[in-house]
Amino acid sequence: SKIEEKLFQDRYRVDSGRPHIKIKDPDHCTECLEKQCTICCPAGCYTKEDSGKVVLVTDGCLECGTCRIICQDSGNLDWEWPRGGFGILFKFG
Ligand code: SF4
Repeated sequence: SKIEEKLFQDRYRVDSGRPHIKIKDPDHCTECLEKQCTICCPAGCYTKEDSGKVVLVTDGCLECGTCRIICQDSGNLDWEWPRGGFGILFKFG
């Protein structure tokens, strides 16, 4: 599709060992009924495991902020912008 063709043009620099989003309390995610992050993240960074755990891999994060808003009330996400030079590098034109 068109959007995938566009996304393919972006580049991502992983800041190894320094994910810019962290789950504070994994048990809270296990107990969370909605787990909206596993549905709404456009980059598929959140995966629901059969055990009920949520696994977060921030590689490929588009920095859209959706998960930050979804999970705001719980306060369970530690959400920062990536350090300068890391993260998504959008290519325009
Ligand atoms: Fe996914 Fe957006 Fe959250 Fe990044 S900021 S993990 S792309 S929902």
